[in-house]
Amino acid sequence: MTQMKRLKSVTIPVSTFENVMKQFDQAATKLKIDPGLMEFIKYPRKSTIVKLPVRMDDGSFKMFTGYRVQHSIARGPAKGGIRYHPNVDLDEVQALAAWMTWKCAVVNIPFGGGKGGIVCDPGKMSEGELERLTRRYTTALLEVVGPEKDIPAPDVNTNEKTMAWFMDTFSMHAQHTVTSAITGKPVVLGGSLGRREATGVGVVITVREALKHLKMIATKTTAAVQGFGNVGSVAADYLQRLGVKVIYVCDVFGGLCNPDGIDIPALIEYVSKKKKVVGFPGAKPFDKNKILYTKVDILVPAALENQITGKNAARIKARIIAEGANGPVTPEADKILEKNNVFVIPDILCNAGGVTVSYFEWVQDRMGFFWTQEEVNNRLEQFMTSAFNDVLQVALKNKVHLRIAAFMVAIQRVVDVVMLRGIYA
Ligand code: NAD
Repeated sequence: MTQMKRLKSVTIPVSTFENVMKQFDQAATKLKIDPGLMEFIKYPRKSTIVKLPVRMDDGSFKMFTGYRVQHSIARGPAKGGIRYHPNVDLDEVQALAAWMTWKCAVVNIPFGGGKGGIVCDPGKMSEGELERLTRRYTTALLEVVGPEKDIPAPDVNTNEKTMAWFMDTFSMHAQHTVTSAITGKPVVLGGSLGRREATGVGVVITVREALKHLKMIATKTTAAVQGFGNVGSVAADYLQRLGVKVIYVCDVFGGLCNPDGIDIPALIEYVSKKKKVVGFPGAKPFDKNKILYTKVDILVPAALENQITGKNAARIKARIIAEGANGPVTPEADKILEKNNVFVIPDILCNAGGVTVSYFEWVQDRMGFFWTQEEVNNRLEQFMTSAFNDVLQVALKNKVHLRIAAFMVAIQRVVDVVMLRGIYA
């Protein structure tokens, strides 16, 4: 299992889907939209559960359960990742699919929302077992996925290689190569330049816009980053390029502190070899459990869901929280943070850079013509800044915080499309 990402510890709350519903309801009531229509766009349109027999290396067969939820296809094909984790369940997949609908609508890309997952422990499986599981899962979903219907991507514990297996299996059944059936592929198989960095880069574009709005000067600010994986490490790197002093970082194993600023490129180099931040010579050890409460201007939770809750939100000292992770702040925490004047850049806006470049990948695959890194970055910049400004304007006009505003922008965009199409009832 050399190519698989290390298994992450993911905290599963009582109901992540309920949290999304609460966020939806808060924004929906402000929009005064027909209650029946609201019910229609609120819940997933289709949830598929598949049983997957897989031949294991020892010759035995093992049954796995897989999910694919399409929350909405009103604005275009469903879009969203595939997660491999022991804690995957329908509630979590539905929540993640719903967030994808709103995320795609906030950045105004022509996709709905979807998400998939398989209940498995990839850390305990060989590469061959994972390949057979992925191919069987792809085959079981052939009726629901495809470039015009539902386009998966990587998520927790799936990566470029998983996407290559999915693309190949889908193509074998179609009897021709269909690169646009999935995104997050290796660049040589039709992946996009800049996809790996896109989420972290997008996070920092939104932070830059927030600093502008709050009249704060990047070079006079400090940051703490929780999680040093794909999102956290790139966000830390680009924050530093913006002139922000990144003084705390942590991963699941431990934390680091350097009041003069941690040398992030050197730390990335260190982590590529050691697989953890602990032991990095350019900083002092720091208790990872305290990172959320550090005295910094910018806090980037880029690890897990439900990190800042009603219980600990009052301890946050940062002026800005940039949600690199999905769902790091609960609805109860939102209320406390708002009261304490913390400026939260919500996940469906803050970390939408990844799905935006996934959209670019799908476009490039369908054209069969590929863009330079500069073209990708320029377009990402355009999408993220206009999304931030659309959300900020709605927030200012309606005197609501950015999460409600982001949901208002997204819900209105879905409602507009549904109204124009009409409901076939
Ligand atoms: P990753 O596996 O690459 O990195 C996760 C990081 O979090 C690792 O450094 C891990 O050690 C750390 N971590 C795990 N548990 C922790 C804990 N208890 N305390 C501190 N650190 C901990 O994952 P990623 O792709 O960077 O994703 C991180 C988050 O961002 C997830 O919520 C994911 O859903 C979200 N997200 C990712 C993307 C993307 O493009 N990768 C896009 C949108 C949202």
